[in-house]
Amino acid sequence: MKRIVLKHGEEGRIRRGHPWVYDNEVEKILDGAGSSSTAMLLPGEIADVESSRKTYLGRALVNPNSKIIARIYSPSKEGMDKGFFKRRIREAVSRRTLAGGKFYLHRESVRLVFAEADFLPGLIIDRFVGWPFKELESAVSLRPITFDDACAALGKPQSWIAIQFLSFGMDSRREEIIAALEEVLEQDGFIIPDGTPLGTSAGIVEKSAAKVRELEGLPLQEGLVRGSFPTSGIVIFENGLPFMLNLIDGQKTGHFLDQRDNRRIAAGYARGKVLDAFSYTGGFGIHAARLPETPVHVTCVDASAAALETVRINAGLNGLGDSVTTVEADVFEYLRSCEGHRTRGHQEKFDLIILDPPAFAKSKAALEGALRGYKDINLSALKLLNPGGILVTCSCSQALDEGRFRRMIAEAAADAERRLIQLDFRYQSADHPVLVGYDESLYLKCGIYRV
Ligand code: SAH
Repeated sequence: MKRIVLKHGEEGRIRRGHPWVYDNEVEKILDGAGSSSTAMLLPGEIADVESSRKTYLGRALVNPNSKIIARIYSPSKEGMDKGFFKRRIREAVSRRTLAGGKFYLHRESVRLVFAEADFLPGLIIDRFVGWPFKELESAVSLRPITFDDACAALGKPQSWIAIQFLSFGMDSRREEIIAALEEVLEQDGFIIPDGTPLGTSAGIVEKSAAKVRELEGLPLQEGLVRGSFPTSGIVIFENGLPFMLNLIDGQKTGHFLDQRDNRRIAAGYARGKVLDAFSYTGGFGIHAARLPETPVHVTCVDASAAALETVRINAGLNGLGDSVTTVEADVFEYLRSCEGHRTRGHQEKFDLIILDPPAFAKSKAALEGALRGYKDINLSALKLLNPGGILVTCSCSQALDEGRFRRMIAEAAADAERRLIQLDFRYQSADHPVLVGYDESLYLKCGIYRV
């Protein structure tokens, strides 16, 4: 086993739980336990990491072609075979059952593995539970469709897996990983408190199209790996509400599971007129239209026509009819035009505005420009809220930390000449765990404020 020896004093961050070794922190690479000759690292191999004083720091997946030269996956000298992946996946799945009840994993779609935060660097596995869209649409005529109606018409739900290999080491072990995953899901009855295995998935779809793959020297890759996926998409239930998604079609892709709890909580504040900005397939907007007891009107704004088509399908599945309107527009322009109407005396105001933009700051270098973007939309939104209105504002930029995010909101409020009371401040759902010492795993911020 090769050994990566760090430069003097570089081990502190790793000892506090951060799993990455950057290439500029490495003093030397040694060949084997006793030998002191220097060695070359091969992409995807495993190696031991130690401090300059020979303190053992852990075993890592290496990629000499990446600035992240090693990703520690274990504090001990454990190998990376199918048995290892089965143990890790099992541990990750059983963590998902801690907070959920007996039916959590049988009914809800969850992220089963969240990469470094589940000690599987660069591996993401989502499991979607539901039924093929076309079958469900024709088998159940009642709207809104409920989970129980779907079970009564079509039997137990099926499941589909979306998998992402985001590090070279995981990509080169894809066969072992998929075999391990299938064995855990099929055989391990312990997973669910009632003893039922989660069951074979009907299809596994690779979604490795994230840009970070390029930093690892890997091509972007998508497509069916095993089984099948319905061409018309599937319907899952989130917080009991039906949502359509399609893992295969290039335009309509998946569903962001990390906002599950925030969507439910945000909907608790919905009344009157609601704006769901950057709506994608309507995750927040549909919850806001469905959950309150009083009628609510929701406007979903997104630049993607395909996403808005899915919003309309989701509104249909939820029996929402006219209470959800879709607007295909750039949110920056849309907010400005609402402000324009307002200054001309028209009433274009909202009681709840949700801002859930894509990550504006893709890197630390892009942070300043990104902050201007965040402030711009938050400022406009604050001006467009009725007195007593609620702002739900999110950022999924990992490079934007909570402190800067909060300060941006305070600055937007100052410029809008509005006082804000924070009602809640939230993060990603618990199936996207945060690894202490590895701040990159805490990426989603969601503040809820009253004007
Ligand atoms: N709120 C959504 C997720 C939003 S993802 C949910 O709960 O599922 C970000 C969305 O912003 C994408 O759908 C993308 O099409 C859209 N988008 C990105 N830039 C935009 C812009 N400038 N104007 C409007 N929509 C934009």
